[in-house]
Amino acid sequence: MHDVLIIGAGPAGLSAARWCDELGLDTLVLEHSEEVGGQLLSIHNPIENYLGIHPDNGRELRDRFVEQTKDCEFDLWTNVEITSVDLKAKRLVLRSGEELKSIAIIIATGLRRRKLGIPGEDEFIGRGMIESSGDRQAFAGKDVCVVGGGDAAAENALLFAEVCPTVTLVHRGKKLRARREFAEQLHTNHCITVFPESVVHRIIGHEGVEAVEIERAGAIKPFQMAVQGVIVRIGFEPNSELFRDQLKMDKDGYVLINGLQETMLENIFAVGDVANPLSPTISSAVGGGATAAKVIASRLGR
Ligand code: NDP
Repeated sequence: MHDVLIIGAGPAGLSAARWCDELGLDTLVLEHSEEVGGQLLSIHNPIENYLGIHPDNGRELRDRFVEQTKDCEFDLWTNVEITSVDLKAKRLVLRSGEELKSIAIIIATGLRRRKLGIPGEDEFIGRGMIESSGDRQAFAGKDVCVVGGGDAAAENALLFAEVCPTVTLVHRGKKLRARREFAEQLHTNHCITVFPESVVHRIIGHEGVEAVEIERAGAIKPFQMAVQGVIVRIGFEPNSELFRDQLKMDKDGYVLINGLQETMLENIFAVGDVANPLSPTISSAVGGGATAAKVIASRLGR
């Protein structure tokens, strides 16, 4: 029996753990990945807007967070798979069969990249499906397709155009959603072609990606375009399935909370991006973790 179980060890979960420790709460953090850090691990650009530090990338900030928790006494388990949760009873069951109980639970499960759900998308992971712009040197000299119309798609198209002869940006809407600065750069970059009102139906190949099948609005039938790399950037979705039917959520699956970061259930808190569709920022996540810990500590008289 712990005071607090924290699910997720991104910025929100680590901040909550740091504060729980400082406030004398017996805390266990459960992280499903091998490493802590959550989405910080996929930020490859400098982080300019987190006060007090200018890390070159997310991993550097993650390392600072870890450094700052290394003397803490909370327990951290990585590679953990939770198979079932009873939030009312504050009980979790792990794949290993272990059962955990606590007085409070802090959900800090974050977001994941949305997938297209088309043939080839999973099959070619590591064989032409591009996970990160950090891999772009491996695609130097190759033709690449970027799917999506927001800032992430535009930014990736621009980054890959620095090393690729052609980049084709395919987006389903009439207009790009990306900020004007990105949109202008896309349209003036001679390596980049933008296909609006277009949908990628499948990713084709043998050993690796060889082509994408695209349907453009008004076209009689889909066509195949030869590419060796595909990067999908169509937004994010919350990791909240585990708690569905037990908590109130919005239509997109974000957990609804009050000003104390508390869900509809007493002593069940949700912090960070999983509960913050309007401000999915590192700053908000860190602040939310601190708030939840302080509320729990005050209720337990610490
Ligand atoms: P966004 O939600 O901004 O955009 C998602 C894009 O994907 C939209 O064009 C959307 O189309 C499209 N889309 C969604 N679902 C599908 C689907 N199933 N099939 C095809 N297309 C789909 O997500 P981003 O990942 O671009 O950005 C997330 C957040 O991160 C934003 O707040 C963004 O501003 C921020 N960001 C900032 C950057 C920066 O400042 N440098 C860089 C990258 C991201 P539709 O418009 O038709 O819905």
